[in-house]
This record gives sequence, structure tokens and C-alpha cells, in this order.
Amino acid sequence: MNIPSFPLPSKPQIEVKFHAPTVKDAIKYSDFNPSEDEVTTTEYLNSMQEPPISDSAEWTIQDRRTALWWIFVNSRPDPVMTYSYECRHCNSSHNADIDLNQLAETVELLTVEPHVKTQVPVNGKPTQWTLKPLTGRGAHMLERMRASLPDMKDPDYSAGMSRFRIAELALCTALDDDPEDFTEAANRRFEMIEAMALETEFTPLVARIQLMQRDLRHGLLMSIEHGTSRLILPPQKCKNAKEGADVTTTLYVPFLNREFIPSIRPEWMANHH
Ligand SMILES: [Zn+2]
Repeated sequence: MNIPSFPLPSKPQIEVKFHAPTVKDAIKYSDFNPSEDEVTTTEYLNSMQEPPISDSAEWTIQDRRTALWWIFVNSRPDPVMTYSYECRHCNSSHNADIDLNQLAETVELLTVEPHVKTQVPVNGKPTQWTLKPLTGRGAHMLERMRASLPDMKDPDYSAGMSRFRIAELALCTALDDDPEDFTEAANRRFEMIEAMALETEFTPLVARIQLMQRDLRHGLLMSIEHGTSRLILPPQKCKNAKEGADVTTTLYVPFLNREFIPSIRPEWMANHH
């Protein structure tokens, strides 16, 4: 089965060639640790490429999710996923069977560079920031941070969550004098952001990052918040609605990378002798 070339949504001049998943690929990802979703995704997207390999750790989160979906829909005869949801029209639960091919019409490719420059001072000192979507490498860092967050009932939870949110912002920025090491540079920006004046510096920086996210929308239609991605599905009609009634629900469903990475299904391994 041939997978058509995939234009990277953030840099469509880069076309990536993937092979269809083999049994060997599925075996490799069968016991995959959900807390290492992003690290495994990078390994998977790199190992599925025909040379020359473009390191998927440098791709944006949207590029990576869209690539997972691309391989999925182009390697399955029937790429359907079922999502169940509580219907707010009739209060019962419905199943939506979504043909993931339908999402193709939501994919957008960027026609501008995947970053914007802006001036926001730090402690009164004029500073030029580059704002850019989160990449795979940033997601690896957030994933490690998330794993070390205290339990939700822990009194330190909300402080931990705030630090997570600031790290997420720091990872959507770059500075001209960033140290070469990725982690060192991210930690330095984190400390700079922590030192910013709350109302006059930090708040404008957050607003511009949010604006950048909207202006640079690319890939599948999704919402990304607190390191979690949600796919926005086509509106679903209430199953109990009277004919002709216009009662639909727009579903935001978690995009779980692991659901798009092949693994060996237990029913294939059952021994029927
Ligand atoms: Zn309903």
C-alpha cells in the first residue's frame, strides 16, 4: 500500500514519504508506555519515513498529529473511529462513528513562515521575542514535567500546574541569544518569564502567544491547551431528534497519539487450535 507524500503543514515545501505500517512496526509499539506518548511518537514518525529523514522532534505538534492521522487514513481500508458522547439535546449517550477521511477538509497548510517576531520588555528591558508553535522537543519536556506533577489532591498541585503552564509558554518562544542547548535555553526563558511584571509584561506576552497560535493555525482542526490536543469533529446530529430538526453537537475529542500508532491487537494473537 502506497502512502501519498505528506506536505508538512507548517512548511509545505517539505514533503515527507512514509511507508505503510508493517507487522514488525506494530510489534515494536505494542507495549508502549502512555506517559511517553510524545517520545514514542517521535520515534515512530522517524522510523516510518523513507530517507531523507526529517526529524519529527522539530515538527510542530500540529504537524505530528496530522502526520499520524495521514498514515492512519492512508493505510487502512476503513479508517473509522467511534466516539461516545453525552448529547445535550436529549441527555442520552450517543455513538458517533467518524470516518477520519472526512477530516481532510479541515487540514490547512501554512503559506507564511511558522513564527512571528514581537517586542515585549522583560523587567523594563526591551526584548525581541520569536513566537512559534510548540514542537515535538518541547512536547517531550512537557511530558516529563507532567509525569512529575503532584497528585491533584496535593496542596502543591496548583503551583505545579502553573509552572507547567509557564513552561508551555516558554516553549512557544525563542530569543536571539538563546543558548545552543535546547533544555538550557528553555529553562533560561522560563526564568525570564517568571521575572516579568505580571500585568504590563507577562499578560501582553501571553496574549501575543495566543494570537500567534490563531494566526499560524495549520494541520488538522484542533484545540491545544495545557499540552492536550482535541480534535474538532464535524457536527453530529442528535439520534433522537425529530426529522428536519437542526440539533447538532460539535465534538471536541482528545487526540491520543497512541490510538494512531499501530499495535498488535489481542484478537489476532488468540490461539484457536
Ligand atoms: Zn441526542
